[in-house]
Order: sequence, then C-alpha cells, then structure tokens
Amino acid sequence: MDAATLDAEVAELRAAAHAYHSRYETIPNLAWPEGMRVAVNFTLDFDAMLLRRLKNEPPMQLAKGEFGGRVGIWRAVELFSRLGVKATIFTVGRICELYPDALRHVLAEGHEIADHMWEHHVPKDPAMEDDHFMKTIAAFRHTLDYRTVGSRSRHSNSLLVREGFIYNSHGSADHGPHYIHDGAGNTVLNLPFHYAIDDAMFYSANWQGSPLIANRFSDTDRVEEMWWHGFRQQYRRGGYLNVCLHPFVSGRAQRIDMLDRLVRRMQTLPGVWFPTSAELARHVITTRPPQGGR
Ligand SMILES: [Zn+2]
Repeated sequence: MDAATLDAEVAELRAAAHAYHSRYETIPNLAWPEGMRVAVNFTLDFDAMLLRRLKNEPPMQLAKGEFGGRVGIWRAVELFSRLGVKATIFTVGRICELYPDALRHVLAEGHEIADHMWEHHVPKDPAMEDDHFMKTIAAFRHTLDYRTVGSRSRHSNSLLVREGFIYNSHGSADHGPHYIHDGAGNTVLNLPFHYAIDDAMFYSANWQGSPLIANRFSDTDRVEEMWWHGFRQQYRRGGYLNVCLHPFVSGRAQRIDMLDRLVRRMQTLPGVWFPTSAELARHVITTRPPQGGR
C-alpha cells in the first residue's frame, strides 16, 4: 500500500470514528432530585421462555424460562413492593398473551412496564421492525390499557421518537444516562447497564447455549458483595446504577433473599433514589435536555 492510499484510509477511519462518537452525548455532573445522592434502577427483563424458544433451546431450558412467568415475576414484585422500590419490567410483547395477570399485577403495584421487543428480536427489514414494534404497543394497550414510554431494544430512534418514547436502556457506552442521536434528528435518552451487574451472567449455566466454562452458578454472597461494591462506588461519586435482572433467573428463592439483603443495605445510606426508569428519564430530560445532534 502506498503512502497516499494509507493516508486516505486513515482519514476515512477517523471520519467514521468521529461520526460514531458524535452520536453519543454524555451528561457530565448530572444532579439527582433534592436530597438524593445516587439513583438506582432495578430493571427486569421479562423474557420467560420466549428468548429460549427463539434460540431453539431444549425443553428443559424452556421450562426454566416458564418459571419466570409463573413464579419469578410474582416474587420479584412482592420483594420490590415490600421494600418500597419502584422497578421497571421490560416486557416482551407476547408476554401479554402468556402472563397477562402478572403484568396487571405489576401495574397495580405501581411498577413500570416497558417494551422489550415483540418476540425478543428486532427484525432487520424496516417494515417488519415497524410491525413488531406496533404489535407490542397494541398488546400493551389491549391487555393492560397502558402506554409505555421506554424500551430495552435495538429499535431505531426514529420509531421510538415517532411513538412518543423518551428512553431506551441498552448498551454500556457510558456509566450514566446519556443521549443517543441518530444523525437524522431523532434523539433518545439511554439508561445503560453493564453485564457486571446482570444476574444472567452469574446464575446461568449454558447461557444462550454457550459452552463457556465461565458460565456457571455463582454463590449469591459473592454476587451480593460485587454488586454492593458497585453500588458504593456510584454512591461515592453521586452516580447511577442499573441493576439488570430476569424473573426466571433472580426469581429463585435464595437469589430473591440476596436482593432483599442488598436493597436493605443500600437503604441504610441516606439519599438513595429508587425511581422507575421513566421517572428517572423524565428527571434527566427536564433538568438536562439534549444539547446537540438533533
Ligand atoms: Zn431479554
């Protein structure tokens, strides 16, 4: 490769990196409501057996998923309601057909329901994506008389904005809430999480059929200490923690007990805010609206 070609390729890479970077707008020194020092979102992905069915997993794995709909979700709601914590339940649209009573209970207890795709995937074809997205919105309306403003998906910003959604919750591009611009005028707040604070990474053998030896069952005490240290770190800096859970994973009795201990430890410190994701998103958008890239 000659020098001129190399220079051209480097310039092209730099431009691509710059375009990618300019899609992300971080929010430095974000402040929480009066008296609050740290914000903690407990977010539960209500997948039940749907993700596993999509991956063609064997019946035993499907049964594990079903546990989330029959038992896990009820235990999780009981836990968070009892502790006065508002949770966000990211729900696959088809769950409306499978476990409507559980979803009605989630809302009756004052927790939030948000989109987690119609069948746990976003179709590549734009018309099909639109169809899936609208199916979930319609299922929430018909089954629950409910309209959500949040998603945990790779749905496009243009669809999210068009239907009045204000936030998404995926990826780990920053440690706190940040805006994502699509370059075409559509901006959505993102509430990131990280696999280090995700129950599926610690409690799931053969996660998504993975043969990885790292996928094994962790001692709940070990997970509690890891997450507690993660929380303390955010508490010190006045930051944000998004705890990602799954009813079919964390709904098991000893894991529910661990969450009970963890939340109570958090509540021994002053100024810990446990809002729904939508409450938190509204606070951020109101106090720190997006500055650029729209
Ligand atoms: Zn999921």
